[in-house]
Amino acid sequence: MIKRDVGKLKSESFDILIIGGGITGAGIVRDAAMRGFKAALVEKKDFASGTSSKSSKLAHGGLRYLEQGDFKLVFDACHERKILTHIAPHIVKPIQFIMPIYKGDRRGRFKIRLGMALYDILAGFQNISKHQMLNRDKVLELEPALNPEGLIGGTLFSDCQMNDARLCLENILSAIEKGAVCLNYVEACGFIKENGRARGAYVKDLFSGEKLEVRANVVINATGPWADEVLSLSDANHTRRLRPTKGVHLVVNNFKPNHAILSSTRSDGRMFFILPWGKNSLIGTTDTDYGLDLDRVSVDKTDVDYLLNETDRILTAAKITPESIIAAFAGVRPLLSASGKASSISREHTILESPSGIISVLGGKYTTYRLMAKEVVDRAVKRLKISGIGDCSTHLIPVYGGGQVMGEMREKDDFTLHLIQTYGSRYNEVLDIAKCDERLKMRISPDHPHIAAEVVHAFQNEMAMTLSDFFLRRTWIGYSRSRGKDCINTVADILKRHLNFSEDEIENQVKQYEVKQVVGATFMAPADSGLINQTPTRRKH
Ligand SMILES: Cc1cc2nc3c(=O)[nH]c(=O)nc-3n(C[C@H](O)[C@H](O)[C@H](O)COP(=O)(O)OP(=O)(O)OC[C@H]3O[C@@H](n4cnc5c(N)ncnc54)[C@H](O)[C@@H]3O)c2cc1C
Repeated sequence: MIKRDVGKLKSESFDILIIGGGITGAGIVRDAAMRGFKAALVEKKDFASGTSSKSSKLAHGGLRYLEQGDFKLVFDACHERKILTHIAPHIVKPIQFIMPIYKGDRRGRFKIRLGMALYDILAGFQNISKHQMLNRDKVLELEPALNPEGLIGGTLFSDCQMNDARLCLENILSAIEKGAVCLNYVEACGFIKENGRARGAYVKDLFSGEKLEVRANVVINATGPWADEVLSLSDANHTRRLRPTKGVHLVVNNFKPNHAILSSTRSDGRMFFILPWGKNSLIGTTDTDYGLDLDRVSVDKTDVDYLLNETDRILTAAKITPESIIAAFAGVRPLLSASGKASSISREHTILESPSGIISVLGGKYTTYRLMAKEVVDRAVKRLKISGIGDCSTHLIPVYGGGQVMGEMREKDDFTLHLIQTYGSRYNEVLDIAKCDERLKMRISPDHPHIAAEVVHAFQNEMAMTLSDFFLRRTWIGYSRSRGKDCINTVADILKRHLNFSEDEIENQVKQYEVKQVVGATFMAPADSGLINQTPTRRKH
């Protein structure tokens, strides 16, 4: 059981304090704890509630970065993709992509063939499988819903799909197991300074309102798109280093492709995806400048129109309309400041040190998080010079549930398979909870595979604090057609019966997880997944 103990933050002085519990911070705290540092991490909402649960959920080399000449990024990302399939095999899995080629596409057959060959070369021995060029008939045989008009061929290649929120969580849980103190719903509000150097942070527990001082020799800012805001807490004259861009995804339930589909948009030549995602499909993404409130990123009607128009062009027969959309979410990319079109900005990262010594990690992509974390912790090693600190081993040691599952997967029933695919080698922890009470073996809804014991597990062992944490990040129930309404009372009942939540707490939690009806649209979005807005955000294509 993981007990949330904010007091631990003030009771000791840490080697390293990390601010931000997205994948970047989670990767850093795991690496630091594994090397033997006394590390702490504070996250102002839930782990992965920022960009790290709003990604396209691909651990990929990034085919389109080849066009921008970012060969090193593609090479690193392919290498990391392979590592992730070893350290987190239950939540990072190969997926086959089809990229159809249409007459008039910005990227013709020759360019695609060249790009795919380069992609295979850069992946080298880390390749999932080599690409194949396909003729028109083969493309239609593999993906019959594709529009045949103007189709001239395509290519088949592999990348990986992942569970972004759970991979972030598993890094946090691994770090805690190695002795790190990681807390969600604790916000950094300022920096403790001694002789002009950052020596920790003033933080606030957002549940109790308690303010604390957390002392540390090295402070790391891993707050993704919030990085400039956090640096401004230290230096009011801080010059912004990021150019945040918004990306939107739609979840549709009336069509699921056989493969992931990657295609070029006609309106601006960008690449977009239609990905199989559980029982549904994910369509994304947009890439537009974002200068509004980072804590209230919303999906605009223009985002929806853009994605539906492009999808309709290549998947006309699938009839994906606004009525097909069951949920939508928006996230903000923490891109390094650069001029030019938003979609052409590099996904490279940089590490910089402020005059007060705060180490910030800026930019990057999910796939390369482990490498970024290694570079940051290497810096801390040089700065701290503590004896007995080990080398980085995050490429070798599986994340929390990444160990080997005992026994043949083929022999497992559907129920056990669901648990293994979610919790990996830790699935027995859920089964152990279920052993205490027969009712905990029951599914919480006929529409979802999750059992009651998973609710107890999430709140007791995975630091879920709110219903949103459970519905949007420990599981993806919040992105299903019911968005959790079909089982919210059952979940509330489990919290009361097994975790001693009071009536008032439950009522509050349910209220906070209200599902907002969207005016003028036929679909809804979970409260903190990005609301669909009729007013466009600032955009500069
Ligand atoms: C639409 C979209 C699709 C993407 N798809 C992919 C993909 O398929 N593959 C890929 O590799 N990459 C993808 N990316 C990029 C990737 O998702 C991001 O690079 C990555 O998630 C950033 O993680 P992060 O931890 O740096 O930021 P975040 O996940 O945003 O984490 C920062 C955290 O800091 C917290 N925080 C902020 N201020 C404070 C404070 N004062 N105190 C405490 N905590 C604070 C926030 O609450 C937040 O949780 C995508 C990005 C977007 C937007």
